[in-house]
Amino acid sequence: MPIATVNPTTGETLKTFEPLGPDGIEERVAKADRAFRAYRGTDFASRSALLASAADLLDKERDEIARTMTTEMGKTLAAARAEAAKCAKAMRWYAANGERLLADEHPAQSDVEDSGAHRAVVRYRPLGVVLAVMPWNFPLWQVVRFAAPALMAGNTGLLKHASNVPQTALYLGELFRRAGFPEGCFQTLLIQSSAVDAVLRDPRVAAATLTGSEGAGRAVAAVAGDAIKPTVLELGGSDPFVVMPSAAGELDQAVSTAVTARVQNNGQSCIAAKRFIVHADVYDAFAERFGRAMGGLTVGDPMEESTDIGPLSTEQGRADLEELVQDALGQGARALCGARRPESRQAGWFYEPTVLTDVTPRMRIHREEAFGPVATLYRVPDLDAAVELANDTPFGLSSNVWTRDEDEQRRFAADLQAGGVFFNGMTASHPALPFGGVKRSGYGRELSAQGIRAFCNVTTLWYG
Ligand code: NDP
Repeated sequence: MPIATVNPTTGETLKTFEPLGPDGIEERVAKADRAFRAYRGTDFASRSALLASAADLLDKERDEIARTMTTEMGKTLAAARAEAAKCAKAMRWYAANGERLLADEHPAQSDVEDSGAHRAVVRYRPLGVVLAVMPWNFPLWQVVRFAAPALMAGNTGLLKHASNVPQTALYLGELFRRAGFPEGCFQTLLIQSSAVDAVLRDPRVAAATLTGSEGAGRAVAAVAGDAIKPTVLELGGSDPFVVMPSAAGELDQAVSTAVTARVQNNGQSCIAAKRFIVHADVYDAFAERFGRAMGGLTVGDPMEESTDIGPLSTEQGRADLEELVQDALGQGARALCGARRPESRQAGWFYEPTVLTDVTPRMRIHREEAFGPVATLYRVPDLDAAVELANDTPFGLSSNVWTRDEDEQRRFAADLQAGGVFFNGMTASHPALPFGGVKRSGYGRELSAQGIRAFCNVTTLWYG
């Protein structure tokens, strides 16, 4: 993919960038390695101050960077502003909590003596230069949720961002530099995906993290496996949103949350609810209100405050989504709304919010991730069928369940194959809560203590 800013609202190419050549890459990897040798010895207080200063800068520049994000990938301006604010919050959370999360651990004295030592300590030391391969859908957040803990732990970072968000990528490198992080602590590499292999194999690069598609995850994990380097993978998802009869009293709230959960970020979120699994007792009421609410959303210019849904980020992304919908319709699915491009928008990569019913396992959309504002709606007779259908996917990122029945909550909490189960709400990430999936949604966790320890050398210090 060429490295370029192409406005998805108009289809216009606004700026193109030359990828770094081998010399430019070498210079930056060497700089990251040199920076690590000094930065790893800094104390938590100084790293915390640097992160807080990056958060302050980001708050000040929120409107400007939000416009850049909207221009590059089409999310609504309101969503872009909220994303920048969330990044500043996560930086402050790690600035405040990083030292506590990485404090030395002291095993029980009886175990220490049993190991033959008089003292033993578990210490979290930084790992080194970490390569982050990141996607365009949350172009600030996906990076910051890696960078804040990684930098707080004493690592340095190299960012290979998606080719369609180069200006956001460059902004991030500059942000950490301007916040006062020593030269080389966090750098953007403007490279194409074909250059990732060599960077990852470089002995000065210790580990990698990737958020994106299954294919990208597989490619990066294969190289990392060959080079014996740890990875965290956060890949796609097709999260279920289950509605049980005990939520009948709050069906309107369930419907409005369902709509937000499906169309947030123009429908392009890994943790968006994508499959809506509704108990027969509440199905008709839910389907009618959900179809009406989805069909009533405003599709338009993401810079306008009145817009609910902007364009898809790339022309290819819209083509992939259209193919999934056409495949389903061709095999007997029914559309409650949408399933077409809006007539009012000739330019740009818009697609109307869509709800499909009568979806069967033969249809591609039953198994594949629909990365856009398209929901599938299923009717189930009971809880067992809901669990079975929710788990009938290659993915296992998160899940959402509406039920006030505590026995049902226990069943879903025990049986859903996903990295999260969110009751009576929708999946959202928070700095204090682990984030990540199982099955083909990837492995490892971001955020929380898990996220900051992911790129640490957990060192046993044993004193005989
Ligand atoms: P990709 O997975 O292709 O892109 C994510 C990142 O990985 C980009 O930086 C990309 O670089 C890089 N990349 C891609 N292929 C390789 C490779 N072989 N080796 C190393 N790096 C690689 O996402 P797409 O933009 O193509 O989106 C396709 C689908 O991926 C979506 O429809 C959705 O299903 C899923 N996706 C999931 C996301 C999530 O949040 N989990 C986010 C984005 C996409 P470059 O841009 O240069 O190709």
